Amino acid sequence: MYLSHIPARPFNPKRPGTLVGVMMTVSEYLGVLYGSIAETRSAGSYGHCAECGGTVASTEIDPGRMIAPELSLKNGAVLLWAGTDCAPVPRIRQLGAMLGIDYLRPLEEQDQRFISVLLYGYDKEPVSFVHNKRPRADYYRGCISDLQTMIDARTTSKGNLRMISFFSKHSECPACLGTGMSKGMLDIHISGHTLAEVDKLPIPEMLSFIKSLQQSMDAHEFNLVGPIVSHLEPMLLYLRKIGLRTLPLITARGSLPAVSS
Ligand SMILES: [Zn+2]
Repeated sequence: MYLSHIPARPFNPKRPGTLVGVMMTVSEYLGVLYGSIAETRSAGSYGHCAECGGTVASTEIDPGRMIAPELSLKNGAVLLWAGTDCAPVPRIRQLGAMLGIDYLRPLEEQDQRFISVLLYGYDKEPVSFVHNKRPRADYYRGCISDLQTMIDARTTSKGNLRMISFFSKHSECPACLGTGMSKGMLDIHISGHTLAEVDKLPIPEMLSFIKSLQQSMDAHEFNLVGPIVSHLEPMLLYLRKIGLRTLPLITARGSLPAVSS
């Protein structure tokens, strides 16, 4: 068996990287997990959905995917910048302070008008903040505008292209239920769950599912997926700790390489 796309280094919750990256990686690893089991049961042809090719994202920005209102600003509610040290991070923190938003409380518990400000900008007064030890003052343009700038620049950065894909409108393909995976994969049950069902579990339940695999699988199957499980568990612990409710629909996993045993 090889899992060349699973890094040797374990996930470090103290240096998690971007939050979108963590969410997409969890989604991809769940796909690898099901693909590995599909192969051992000779039930998968592990690959893309024949209908959508594994890619359901459009090129149109979906504002509904840009903010996680169950999170605080500190924990990454503005997903475009969550886990980065870019200038918008201190700018948004200061903007929140100007408008009476508690940096540490989930946005859904506070003035909901602030979510529109985060998306579409604030033009009443400039925001003064410090970035890289330099004082700055400018208007907050909103994260949709920031993302559009990234798109217009025709970025070739892999990380930026992943971001753009994440924030694009997704439609749930009826053939693969938004998993991006082949029909054979969708029929695989692990601990009574299909991949489409696991994708939609609340994060605490997804974590329980992953933790239970050692008991619910036979030794051969668990031996196969053990490396994936050991990477998924700390990522899900991290997502539970910051308060993320569920994974958004992520369809980019269809491009993953095959797993062989
Ligand atoms: Zn599909």
